[in-house]
Amino acid sequence: MQLTDAHCHLQDARFGGQLQEALAKCRNLGLTRWMVNATRESDWETVAALARTHPGLRCSFGLHPWWQKERSTEWRVALENCLTLHPEAGIGETGLDRWMEGFDFEDQTAVLHEHLELSRQLDRAITLHCLRAWPELAGCIKRCPPSKRGFLLHSFSAPEAMLEQWVNLGAYFSFSPAFLHPKKTALREMFKHVPLERLLVESDAPDMAPPRELAVALLTQTGERLLNHPGNVVLCLRAMAADRGLAPETLALQLEQNYERLFGNKTKS
Ligand SMILES: [Zn+2]
Repeated sequence: MQLTDAHCHLQDARFGGQLQEALAKCRNLGLTRWMVNATRESDWETVAALARTHPGLRCSFGLHPWWQKERSTEWRVALENCLTLHPEAGIGETGLDRWMEGFDFEDQTAVLHEHLELSRQLDRAITLHCLRAWPELAGCIKRCPPSKRGFLLHSFSAPEAMLEQWVNLGAYFSFSPAFLHPKKTALREMFKHVPLERLLVESDAPDMAPPRELAVALLTQTGERLLNHPGNVVLCLRAMAADRGLAPETLALQLEQNYERLFGNKTKS
């Protein structure tokens, strides 16, 4: 079985020297590819370097709404240059967030539009983050459509009534280990209605940990909070396979096809 983590942040400092070990564990579980999403201008080079040194690891570059205030005045040109230099890369993580403290929605929307334009212009799949701004995000996609490949709504958590609209707009939907918490039962139910050919799995590691008792592994850390291990992606596969009455191996094949269709079967240059 081969499986791909469609969205994670392996560059995050909270991995604290545990990355090699974590990737080895993932490979033992059949998880052999990772789409690592940058979050800010200052981590683009770190993410690119990780992809150069680790087989199976690809990157997406972009500005996450939590960090976009840090950006330089030349960020748009820098992002385009970075994407041109990495033809195998996607765009992300970017998006809209009205949950964060002190959000500047106008600024977020302007930055998102630039990312969407680059997606269309360079034909790259784009990964979107969204909290409490689903109708507005749909508006942005309609006004400024990304590449025809489609786009990934990572850790998708919109109301179920919006699912069909997102399917029609070309979205892919990724299920994260945090959706296995009992309080997320409604989300898990909703994922049963996502078309099979639009499903993906992600860890979002080191965030979005599953309940401790289900975890395949967790990162060692000192604080109270559980740090997610990318290997927990296999939990997402097993849960969705069980919910749909499929063998995990059968669903894994479908997820791999979905990943290739969205991000393209590109090898690293
Ligand atoms: Zn993320």
